[in-house]
Amino acid sequence: MQKKTVQDYIRTIPDFPHKGIMFRDVTTLFADARGMRLCVDQLLAPWAGEEIDAVAGLEARGFILGGAVAHQLGCGFVPIRKKGKLPGATFEQEYVLEYGTATVEVHRDALPAGARVLLVDDLLATGGTAKAGISLLERLGAEVVGCAFVVDLPELGGRRALEEMQMQIHTLCD
Ligand code: 5GP
Repeated sequence: MQKKTVQDYIRTIPDFPHKGIMFRDVTTLFADARGMRLCVDQLLAPWAGEEIDAVAGLEARGFILGGAVAHQLGCGFVPIRKKGKLPGATFEQEYVLEYGTATVEVHRDALPAGARVLLVDDLLATGGTAKAGISLLERLGAEVVGCAFVVDLPELGGRRALEEMQMQIHTLCD
């Protein structure tokens, strides 16, 4: 029997959080010991052996993956959080959602200028969240060496948008 791939551990829940949305649920991937290890190993593979100073994760599932990737790479972790959650002085970036806008923040002193950072999240759709994260990291003076996502929904244009910014994108399944 063939071993399960990362995609095999992810389930799709229809009509969540709104009718018509097919939500990719990665909790089943995270809950499985082999699935989680496979996923983390594959996410960091393009950067294994490279000099990475920190992993930045997007709230909230990017924290779970980003922490594990940072541990494996032997570097620190920087959270990019929804507005109002970080206690210190922050930079903030607004971005457009399907309905309305959202804002993410990072601590102004999270990284030294010139730090080489890998951005991690569970899923790439329109790319709006990732672009906001990249913008915050660049305001810190960091160099974003790439972005790693478990799921890519290419029809929503995120990959194209990030590649147009000359960003290295790594995804595991669609
Ligand atoms: P984007 O900003 O690229 O349009 O959306 C990506 C963000 O929304 C990510 O932070 C991701 O966690 C979340 N997201 C959107 N749709 C889904 C989905 O179907 N499953 C999961 N797990 N996250 C989603």
